[in-house]
Formats: sequence, structure tokens, C-alpha cells
Amino acid sequence: MPPLPIIAIDGPSAGGKGTIAKGIARVLNFAHLETGLLYRWVGKAWLERRDNSDDLETAAVIAQELADRFDLMLLNDPALRSNEVAEAASVISAHPPVRKALLELQRDFAVNPPGAAWGAILDGRDIGSVVCPDAPIKLFVTASPEIRAERRTKELQNLGLAATYEQVLAEVAARDERDRTRATAPLQTTAGSVEIDTSNLSAQESIDVALGIIRRTRLLPDE
Ligand code: C5P
Repeated sequence: MPPLPIIAIDGPSAGGKGTIAKGIARVLNFAHLETGLLYRWVGKAWLERRDNSDDLETAAVIAQELADRFDLMLLNDPALRSNEVAEAASVISAHPPVRKALLELQRDFAVNPPGAAWGAILDGRDIGSVVCPDAPIKLFVTASPEIRAERRTKELQNLGLAATYEQVLAEVAARDERDRTRATAPLQTTAGSVEIDTSNLSAQESIDVALGIIRRTRLLPDE
């Protein structure tokens, strides 16, 4: 049996990668792992257990605990979606032992997707560069900072969380800066990745653009 196809999607927060990943996973019957939720899960537990804000060793221990008992159901916790948890995720994810602890479980998901999936889609910041550098399809999904802050504000408000556009814009900018400039696995475009700018696209249009790119590669089994 040839290996199942892997689609790697990277990009900054609220650029549209999650919408695209979910949409194409549904159409293609692929399993989807939103890897940001792994870092958010560790970030949330770290906020609860850390001794102080420099205590990154506790984050590495928590990441290993998650890897040892990983179950997709753990990622369904709505509390993982808050801005506070996103911030914590961005801090702990810059610590190399945290990334190392979570690497194998992501690769395992990519190669052995759960269920009867026809392939795997992983979205995050370093999927095309570190987790699945040999993925045959790599997308880099982005949008202007203003549009991303607007989307994120609406998303948080829909979850019933307090958020103003100005505050979210500042947070999104700070988090992106940290993700792009960290020494380990920074957010970046990689060789072979195709960029999609979703600033002027609806959710469905973004999904359709991605599907067009994927189908042109002719790497998928006949649908
Ligand atoms: O994708 P999301 O915004 O949920 O990710 C939360 C944070 O987790 C990011 O800001 C980033 O710091 C970190 N992350 C990462 N590598 C990934 C996915 C997320 O470092 N593959």
C-alpha cells in the first residue's frame, strides 16, 4: 500500500488555515489535527501548575504527559480557545523541550491518521518545515493583520469571551512576532509551499482555492 497523502498547512493566527483545513478534511475524507490545540493544552495546564512565568521546565513535563496519554478528545475543551491560553501557548511553544515532546505524536498522526481517513491534514506553524517536511502538499495561509484581528475578535465574541478589536490586534501582532522570530521552528514559508492570501476571500472561497491547488498536484487518489 502506498503511504497516505499528507497535507501540511501553516500560517499566522486567524489567517484562515483552520477553516481551510476543516473544509478540505471534510471534502476529501482526511483526518485533521489542529496542532495549535496541543500547545494550547500545554499552555492551559502550565498556567494552572507553573511556579512562576519563567518556569518553562514544568511546561516540558506537561507536554510529555500529554504525549504519553494523547487522545484527540482532550483537545475538545472549549477553554483552550481563550486569548489567555493562546498567549501561554505562544510562550511555552518557544521552549525546545516542549516542541520535542510533541513532535512524535504529530508525525504519528500524519502517518497513521485515525479512522478510515484517506490521508492526514495537520495545521500549525512548523508542519511543512519540521513536522512533515516531506509532505507532498504544503500550503501557507495568511491574511492582513487587520482582517485577522477582525476575525479573531468575532470568534472570541461568539464564544462569549470579552474582546475588543484594538486589544486583539495588539495581541495578534505580539503573538505573530514571537512565533516568527523564535529560534526553534519559527513560522516561515518553506520551499515548495503555496501561499494563499485569504484577506478578500470568504470561508468557502478559501476552501475552494485550496482544493484547486491540491487537485492540481494530482497526488490524491481518484475521488
Ligand atoms: O494555531 P493557534 O493560534 O491555536 O496556536 C497557538 C500558539 O501555539 C501559536 O501562537 C504558536 O505559538 C503555537 N504553535 C506552534 N506550533 C504549531 C502550532 C501552534 O508553535 N505547530
